Amino acid sequence: MNVVLLGSQGVGKGTYAQRLKDIYKIPHVAIGDLFREEMRSGSKLGNKIAEFVNTGKLVPDDIALEVLKKRLTKKDTKNGFLLDGFPRTLDQAKALEKITKIDKVIYYHASEDVIVDRLSGRRTCRKCAHIYHIKFLPPKKEGVCDICGGELYQREDDYPEAIRKRLSIYYKKTAPLIDYYKKKGLLVEIDANLNISDPRSHIIKDTQDILDRLKQEKQMKN
Ligand code: AMP
Repeated sequence: MNVVLLGSQGVGKGTYAQRLKDIYKIPHVAIGDLFREEMRSGSKLGNKIAEFVNTGKLVPDDIALEVLKKRLTKKDTKNGFLLDGFPRTLDQAKALEKITKIDKVIYYHASEDVIVDRLSGRRTCRKCAHIYHIKFLPPKKEGVCDICGGELYQREDDYPEAIRKRLSIYYKKTAPLIDYYKKKGLLVEIDANLNISDPRSHIIKDTQDILDRLKQEKQMKN
């Protein structure tokens, strides 16, 4: 199952993928995490990437595509993936089609207020990239990752100035993908305004319904 998770930063794509990857045994491929990994390695490529990521700008397509291609050749993607953060532009969507076939695009949407609230409270593990939220999804011990004990930090691009910049890029460059995938008949929408910790939220269940159906369709074809 090759699935794209679409939606603005802070809508919760990474959090949903974290819950779903083990159930469906397919990896969460988050291009932003791949970039941050490369940045941490201190490589020349990592330093180049940092110039864009730390200021909330999009990394040039050729670099993004190269990093993604390398990741998608790894063995764990053989049964599929949950792709998060790519594509972010129409050009990237077209380039992605040349690398692999996408089965479904799940588009999560929420109001801007909800998104800013989620992003400014987000904390990320420096070691394993697991995501928390100081209000909605806090770790057991403040500042420490439940999973690996790593230090939690606030990403440089999760500060208000960079958030606003990233959102304006999203509305301009990424939002056109909604229509693009709708026309291709690949898009399914999910309302992500309620937090998953809210008992009334059915974001995870709705996503699972989509993935279960997709899995069945694929099994019937094989
Ligand atoms: P994210 O973790 O998805 O919020 O991404 C963090 C940062 O990585 C973004 O603000 C961009 O600087 C960069 N980035 C993520 N995805 C892409 C992409 N598809 N194309 C170019 N740059 C990206």
